[in-house]
Amino acid sequence: MDQVKWKRVGFILVSLFALASTFSSAGLTAFRQPNRETVRSVGTQSLPALVAKYHGLATDSAKPVANLLPSTAGGIREQVPKKYATRYQHWKQEFLATETGRQQWAFYQNNPNFTLTVVISRDNPEGGNTSNYQWNEDGKLVAATITLGCRINEGVPNPVYFPVMNSLLPSKTTRTISGETLAATKIAHELGHVNRTAKSDAVLYQLQLQLMPQYNEILLLNGRDTGDPRLLELARRMGATPVEIWEDREYWGETNAMLYLRDRFADQDFRCVLFNRIKRSVDLYARSYEARFLNIAESIPPPRCGW
Ligand SMILES: [Zn+2]
Repeated sequence: MDQVKWKRVGFILVSLFALASTFSSAGLTAFRQPNRETVRSVGTQSLPALVAKYHGLATDSAKPVANLLPSTAGGIREQVPKKYATRYQHWKQEFLATETGRQQWAFYQNNPNFTLTVVISRDNPEGGNTSNYQWNEDGKLVAATITLGCRINEGVPNPVYFPVMNSLLPSKTTRTISGETLAATKIAHELGHVNRTAKSDAVLYQLQLQLMPQYNEILLLNGRDTGDPRLLELARRMGATPVEIWEDREYWGETNAMLYLRDRFADQDFRCVLFNRIKRSVDLYARSYEARFLNIAESIPPPRCGW
C-alpha cells in the first residue's frame, strides 16, 4: 500500500475511533466504502466520517433552530449567547478584516430577500455547519443557518476534506496563526457552503438530501458493493455518489476559506507557505478538484507558490 493510501486509512481509523468513543451507545452504524472513505449513517443523515468529525452529525439537518426569526426578515440574524458575545465579535472582526469577508458579509447583511442566521452553540464546539436551508416556490434559496461552535478558534480539521483549513496547522518552522484567524477561516468555509447552495439546483439538492441515506443504507446491507444496480440508479438520479457529493460540497467550502486566507495574508512569503501546504493536500486528496483552488492561486501576482 502506498503512502497516500496509508494516510487515508490512518485518518479513517482516527476518525472512527474518535466517533466511536463519542457515540458508542447511540446505535450508529459505520462502514468503509472502497478506495476513499468511511461513511456514517445516522438516522436520516449520511455523511463521510471525516466530514462528520468537523461538521458534526447535524449537517443538512432540517431540525429548526430555537427562536429562528421568520425567513422573510432578510439580512443577518445573530443568535449569540451573552457569554460568547465577546469572542464572537473578535472572530467576526477578523473575518471582516479582509475584502472578501467585508463583501460577503455586506451581501447577506443588505439582502432583503435572504435571511442568514448565525448561531453560536456549545454543541460541536470546534466545528460548524450549515442547515435550515429554505427555498421559495421559484426554487431560490431564501434562508440558511450557520451554526458555529463556541470554540472554533481551536481545532484544525483533517487535510482530506479540509485542505485549506488544515494549512493553518501549527508548525515548528513557521509562525503560529491566531485562534481568531482560524475561527474566521471556519466562518469563510461555512459561508462558502451557503454561497454554493444558493447557486445549486434546489430540486437536485433536496433530492440528494433524500436519496443519500437510502444509498448508504443499501451499501451497508449489500456487502459494500458499489456496483449494485440499485446504487448505480440512485447515483444516476443524484448525479454522483454520496462521497462525491460531499467532496464537491466541502471543496467549495474550502475555496471560500482560501479566498479569505488569500486576502488575510497579503504578506506574500507567508501566503506562499499556506498556499504550498494547500497544494500538497489537494495533490494528495483532491486532485480532481484542483482547478477551483488553482483559480484562486492564479488570482494573486506571481509567484504562484508552487501551483
Ligand atoms: Zn464544510
